[in-house]
Amino acid sequence: MKPGFYAVIGNSDYIKINNRKVPIWELLEHQPTGWLCSLQTRPEVIPENTPIIWDCGAYSYREQDYPTINGRYVDAYYVIHKYRLRSKAGDIIVSPDNLLMGDNINWRRQFNLENATNFIKAADSLPDRIPMATIHGLSLQEKLSNAIALYTMGYRHLGIGGLVRSASDYSGNLQIIRAIVEKLRSVDSSVHLHVFGLCAPKYASAFQEMNLSFDGSTHARTAFTEGIFLINSGKDIVRYPLSHAPRCLCRVCQMVKKYGINPHYWGKGRNHDSARMAHNLNQLLVTIDNISNHERIYLISGCGKQLYHPAPARELYCSQLFQASRDYVQNLNAKWFILSPLHHTIHPNQLIQPYDKSPHSMSEDERSAWATTVTQQLVQIAADEDTEFVFLTGRLYREKVIFQTRSHGYKTRTIANNLGIGQKLAWLKAQILVNRQQTLNL
Ligand SMILES: [Zn+2]
Repeated sequence: MKPGFYAVIGNSDYIKINNRKVPIWELLEHQPTGWLCSLQTRPEVIPENTPIIWDCGAYSYREQDYPTINGRYVDAYYVIHKYRLRSKAGDIIVSPDNLLMGDNINWRRQFNLENATNFIKAADSLPDRIPMATIHGLSLQEKLSNAIALYTMGYRHLGIGGLVRSASDYSGNLQIIRAIVEKLRSVDSSVHLHVFGLCAPKYASAFQEMNLSFDGSTHARTAFTEGIFLINSGKDIVRYPLSHAPRCLCRVCQMVKKYGINPHYWGKGRNHDSARMAHNLNQLLVTIDNISNHERIYLISGCGKQLYHPAPARELYCSQLFQASRDYVQNLNAKWFILSPLHHTIHPNQLIQPYDKSPHSMSEDERSAWATTVTQQLVQIAADEDTEFVFLTGRLYREKVIFQTRSHGYKTRTIANNLGIGQKLAWLKAQILVNRQQTLNL
C-alpha cells in the first residue's frame, strides 16, 4: 500500500454538465494517492484504476449500543460480503471496529478483537485485497499492546483510529502516532501504517516524513457544511469565508467557469457546492504536493515555428505556446526538459539546429519507439524513483511516454491538458502572474 493522502469519497462527488456526471477527480490538478470509501455511502461515481480503502465508517455508528449499517448488524462476515461486492483487486479492506467511548467500552474492546480475528481469516477468500485492522486504546499503553496484538494476528497494514476528536491537539496526537510507528517498526520495519481522519497540512508533513498514509474529508466538510473556500499558500492552506474569498485560477475553477458554475456561490444549487468541494480538494492536494520533497521534472513540447539558425533549445522555438510554457516552468525555478520528435529529450541549454519534424508525421510504431527512447532518457535524468514528471505537452508528446514512465514506477501528472491553445496560454500567463504576486507578497 502506498503512503500518501487518500481523499474520502461522498455519495455524489460529481458536477452535472450537459447531463453528464463529471467526477471531481477529472477536474483536479493533482490526484490523491487513493480514496477512502465507507460502506455507509453509495457513491454514484467511483474512481477507477486507483486504490480505495474500504471501511465501515465507525464514526457514524459511534453512538449506537452495537454497530449497524443500514439496519444490518456489522461483523467481520457481513463486511467481507460487502467488500467482495464493492472492492477490486489491490484495494484495502478494513476490519469492522468500534470507537472506545460510552458506557460499554469493554464490550467494544471485545468486539474489535473478535472481529479482527475473524476478519483476517475471512479475508483469505479475497487474496488480492489488503486486509487492515484499526488500533484502538484509551491510553497509549493500550494502543501499543493492541497494535502488537493485531500484528500477531497477521495484520501487516494497521490503521490508527480514534484521534479525530482530539485533532486540534497536534503535538499530543503526533506523540501517540510516533510511539505506535516506532513500536511496530521495531518489530517489523515493513509494516504499513495509516492514520484515519487527519489531513491538515501540519499533519500531512509529519506523516510524509514517517512514510504513512492518511485520509480526510476536509474538502467536503468545508465546502458543504462550513461554506469555506480553501486557498493554497505554499506549504499551508488558508481558510476564507465565501464572502471574502479571492478569485481563483486553479484548474477546477477555470474548467467549471465555462459552464456558468461558480464555486463561490452559496445556496444556489448543488453544482456550485460540488465545484467548491473539488476546488477545496484541489487546493489541499496542491498543498500536500508542495510539502513533499520529491523531485519534479517539467516537460514541454518543442513545437511550432523555429529560428532559422542554430540556438540553445530554450530559444529555438518561437511559438507563443512554447514561450509561455517555458516562462511558466522558469518562473517556478523548476527542472525542465524539452521533448522533440527529432531529438527526443533535450536539455534547454543544448545547442540545436532548426529541423522539420512533427509527431503528426510519425507512424504509430515510430511514436512508440520514440516514447521508449524518451522514457529511457527520463529514467537517466531522474534523481530517484520518487521523481514526478509533469507534462505540459500536447497529447501525442505525452500519451505513450506517460504509460512507459509509469510502468517504470514514476509518478506523472499533466497540467492544463484539457484546455484549447488560447485557454492554455491564458492559464499559463495567469499562473505566472499569481506566482509573481505571491513572491512579491502583494
Ligand atoms: Zn479554484
